[in-house]
This record gives sequence, C-alpha cells and structure tokens, in this order.
Amino acid sequence: MKDKDLFDMNLEEKRLKTFKKWPFSSESGISKEKMAAAGFYFIGNKREPDLVKCYICLKELDGWEEEDSAWEEHKIHAPYCQFIQLNKPNSEITLQDAHELEMHRMLNLTKKILPKIVEEFKKEAQKTREDLKNLF
Ligand SMILES: [Zn+2]
Repeated sequence: MKDKDLFDMNLEEKRLKTFKKWPFSSESGISKEKMAAAGFYFIGNKREPDLVKCYICLKELDGWEEEDSAWEEHKIHAPYCQFIQLNKPNSEITLQDAHELEMHRMLNLTKKILPKIVEEFKKEAQKTREDLKNLF
C-alpha cells in the first residue's frame, strides 16, 4: 500500500494538488481540475504518467485520452463507487454525505488490505506449526 492512501484525499483541493505532472490540457474533459472533481488523485510515476486513483472506491485508472470525460470514465469502470452514486459536486456534499463516504472509504480500504493480512497470518501460522513440530 502506498503512503498516499493513508492521507486524507477527501478534499477536492488536496486531490488537485497531487496533479503536479499531469500530461493533459486544462481545456480537456480530463483536466486536473475535472479529475479531482471526479474523485481522483494522482499516483502516477515515470512508467505510468497518467495513473490516478479514486479516493472512495480506490479504483486505479490510466490510459487516459484527451477526449475522455473524467466523470464518465469513473462511472464506466466503477459504477459501484459510492462517490459516483452520490453524484454531487463537491460544493453540495453535506457533512452527512461526507461521513457516509468516509465510512465507505474505510470499508473499501479494509476489503483491499484484508486478504493480504490473512495471507500473512496464514504464513505465520504455518511457520509456527513447523516450529512446534520441530520441538518434538
Ligand atoms: Zn470511485
């Protein structure tokens, strides 16, 4: 898990600030402003210069094209996303909405990391079993 996942990306301004090297123009449907408004923040690197992630569903998307629409692509690739389903501009998100979104974000984050934790636990259990066997 990257450190950025732990940061608070709930605010559109914070997400916008992550787009430092965004390769698309400010007139396109995937300008950094539109990306941030659609829930995305930048997690790209040299190999993947247009990789973004949704702060709620944690879906990662790249391979953007100038004529794409940030919101539409988000909706196509993650129709289950609670941010997409809420379908409100940032300025209309109430405290109640924000609270519910945060709950979903935590849940999605847990779902994503839980299998890794289980896997690590299994490995540890296996090791302990072997250590015990060697005792006798
Ligand atoms: Zn999403």
